[in-house]
This record gives sequence, C-alpha cells and structure tokens, in this order.
Amino acid sequence: MRATHRHPMPQQDQDIQTVHQFGRYECIGPVRIPLRLSNGKVTTQYSLWYFEFPREKYAALTMGNLKKTKHPLARVESVCIWGHFFDSQYCDCEWQLQEAKRRIAEEGTGIVIFAFDQHGKSVGLRNHFLVYAEGYRRGHELVVDAYKSLGFDEDYRTNYADVRDILQHFGVKRVRLMSNNPQRIKLLRKQGIAVQRVPLEMPLTQWNEEELMVKKRKLGHLLRLEGLGKKSVKQ
Ligand SMILES: [Zn+2]
Repeated sequence: MRATHRHPMPQQDQDIQTVHQFGRYECIGPVRIPLRLSNGKVTTQYSLWYFEFPREKYAALTMGNLKKTKHPLARVESVCIWGHFFDSQYCDCEWQLQEAKRRIAEEGTGIVIFAFDQHGKSVGLRNHFLVYAEGYRRGHELVVDAYKSLGFDEDYRTNYADVRDILQHFGVKRVRLMSNNPQRIKLLRKQGIAVQRVPLEMPLTQWNEEELMVKKRKLGHLLRLEGLGKKSVKQ
C-alpha cells in the first residue's frame, strides 16, 4: 500500500521513473551528487536513495556493487539533531557518520542507512529536546539517567525489519557493520542478516567522554576508551 503523503505531489508525474513501489515500501532514487568526505576529498561515487515504509522514512547512501561484494561495510545510523545538524561535540553521531562515509569511499563499496524518524533512539524529536533540557536542569547525564528520570526506555529502536528490507533491496545479506552497539547487532541478526562487527570508536575528547563512558558502562557498548585515565561515572 502506498504510504500517506503529507507533502504536495507533482502535477505532472507521467514521466517520473525514479519512484518505485516494492511491497510495503517506496523507493526513490538514485540521486547522484558530489559529497565531501572527512578527509577533505570529494567523491561522486555515492548514490543516495529514499525509502518510505508505513511507519518510518530512511535515506541510504550506497557505493559500489553491493550485490557482488561478499561482506560490504555497512552502517545504520539514527538521526541526531545535536550531532548531525548542529555538530554537537557531546555525542559521537556526526563523527560516526562521517567516518563510515570515509571508510566506505576508501573501500569503494558499502552502504549507510540513515533513519530519519529515530530521534533520540526513537523517542521522537520533541522528547529528545525534553530529555536534554530536563536532563541538563536535573544534572543527569543525557544517555541513560535523563531518559529514566522521565520514564522513557533507553532505546525504542527494536524494529529492524525495515533495515533488513533496505539491505535486501540492494542484495545484501551479510555485512561488516560499523557499530559499537551490541543491541543493534543482535536485532539485525534476528532479522536474518549475517553481521560481523567493525569497531567505529570516536577518539575521546573532553567533550564526549561522559557520553562514551555511559554508553560503555550502562549500555554495554563495545568501546575501548583508550586514554581515559581513572575517571569513573556514577552507576
Ligand atoms: Zn548525537
């Protein structure tokens, strides 16, 4: 079934050939535009795609022949208003996106799936602001404690069927997933995707160390946190 559109539809669409309906999702693409990588180089080899599922929207960046690659690099990233839009130094979201893009360009093959509706681990944009604002006011760290103090779960991203469908759209059944999050790996494996993990750890700074420590100690993220010293986080 076609997803509900809240935006204007084109008046004359008889020539449009970039929109395709596949079962429960719509795909638009490819878009080809030059993209800057974190090493300063510009690549024209990325294709960008839009995927709309009944509940959520995604963008995908792909490079190379995914079908012919045995274990392509892959990254699943949720939108972060702080990192992706405002270049927040508190979290590692923007660094991880840019690093994934750079590594894929280096290999020449890979995919990034970007989840547009998963603000704050799918708590929603309004609630993500609420968590940060109240967390700041109450003196909580913003990854676990601020969520809990407002009665939110730590992570609402439990539906990986969309991600599986996007991967399968490109013929991908096995990935080298750039992620530190064991939960993501587990849930993606549950969808039948063979996942090998590739660490994607941002170097520590004075700004991100609290978030990264919490991710490791309270959420079990697979982080080394080299150079952290003897600092500890409230349990
Ligand atoms: Zn972030």
